[in-house]
Amino acid sequence: MNDSSGAPSFIDAHCHLSDERVFSESVQLIHRAHQAGVMKIMLGGLEPDEWDRQIQLRTQYPSLISTSFGLHPWWVEKLSDAEIARALSRLRVDGVQANAIGETGLDFHVKRDSARFGAQRAAFLAQIEIAEGLKKPLVLHIVKAHAEALSIVKYAKFKGPLMVHSFSGSIEEAREWMKLGALLSFSGGVLVPGKFLKVKAVIQSVPLNHLLLETDAPDQGWREGFNEPSLIPELYQGVASLLGVKLELLTQKLAENFRVFC
Ligand SMILES: [Zn+2]
Repeated sequence: MNDSSGAPSFIDAHCHLSDERVFSESVQLIHRAHQAGVMKIMLGGLEPDEWDRQIQLRTQYPSLISTSFGLHPWWVEKLSDAEIARALSRLRVDGVQANAIGETGLDFHVKRDSARFGAQRAAFLAQIEIAEGLKKPLVLHIVKAHAEALSIVKYAKFKGPLMVHSFSGSIEEAREWMKLGALLSFSGGVLVPGKFLKVKAVIQSVPLNHLLLETDAPDQGWREGFNEPSLIPELYQGVASLLGVKLELLTQKLAENFRVFC
């Protein structure tokens, strides 16, 4: 996708400017991104208070910001069952205002509390059903749980568009997600020399019509210091050379893929 001056324009398919850690700086971060040629920024949902901050940013920058309301697996882990139930009832109503439902999913990393895996499964299934009911796409956070997440999505018979953000699965798992029509979004790890070799092999196996790119800012920086959406052109350039495609083709294809989240 090119802007009217012919310069390529970029999409940050997933980041957290409405996260408490960076919200006070979000206006400067959005301005810097816009100056760097970013035409869309999609926020990832964490918990109900953060959904309100997403609405504030989208009201200020309606053409730039896409919103996603959800209960992230890490919040499912730390909230009580009653708090989760309240958040989900609110999502059933407020979700209509969002561009997508998520991030939701399963995170079975060794650092997570396995006593809450059951709560993660239940909240994931509930959010898939909410997305289906509201006819919204899904944004998924899946870590060390691809086989089970795939079976839950199939069990729920979810038919809408979906994105697996910061994809970290295998080539086989990527293939299974793509059979469901999923878009796979990759973060800056693919730029780090000598690391994340598995993810670099996976991204090279993903056809352009299933691909998205994201900063996941302020997390997952690929260079020292702060990560922010204005850095996404660097990720596009790195991925274009990794895949051996022209930057213009990459920006155009990813803009087409992202349309369902606008
Ligand atoms: Zn995220």
